[in-house]
Amino acid sequence: MNLTKKLSDAFNEQIKAEMWSSNLYLSMAVYFMDAGLDGCAHWMKKQTAEELEHAHKLIDYAVKRGGKAVISQIDAVPAQWDSPQAVFEHVHQHECRVSELIDKLVDLAIAENDKATQEFLRWFVNEQVEEEENAKGILDQFNIFGVHGLYCINHDLGKR
Ligand code: MG
Repeated sequence: MNLTKKLSDAFNEQIKAEMWSSNLYLSMAVYFMDAGLDGCAHWMKKQTAEELEHAHKLIDYAVKRGGKAVISQIDAVPAQWDSPQAVFEHVHQHECRVSELIDKLVDLAIAENDKATQEFLRWFVNEQVEEEENAKGILDQFNIFGVHGLYCINHDLGKR
């Protein structure tokens, strides 16, 4: 059974969203490189690579299931933030938004009665729990230690 047109189109939207995320984190990596915070930049570069992997996972599955994977133009991403903490606030907010997108995709897979896709998307549902938790954990450190914690946070993130 092939992916329905609706699901195939929704996968393409998600592929685009994951690629946009990858670019967002790359832009954040540049922000941190400019600020001389190499540990934070390293964390963002890992994140960039992971988001691209997510896009590839979706592409591979869509093609395997007879969908039409389309690589479309990616909108511009932000390039400036007020502070390192503001960057991680954006990360957390963004990952919560991505979780909503994944949930909607699951809803559609249920509506289209596509059990295999529901099963496939389970990995993404779990991944989003981790993504939100990771971002929240870093934000907590900023809230506890403030700007003075930046040295330690930068050092820790460099070990990812
Ligand atoms: Mg992702």
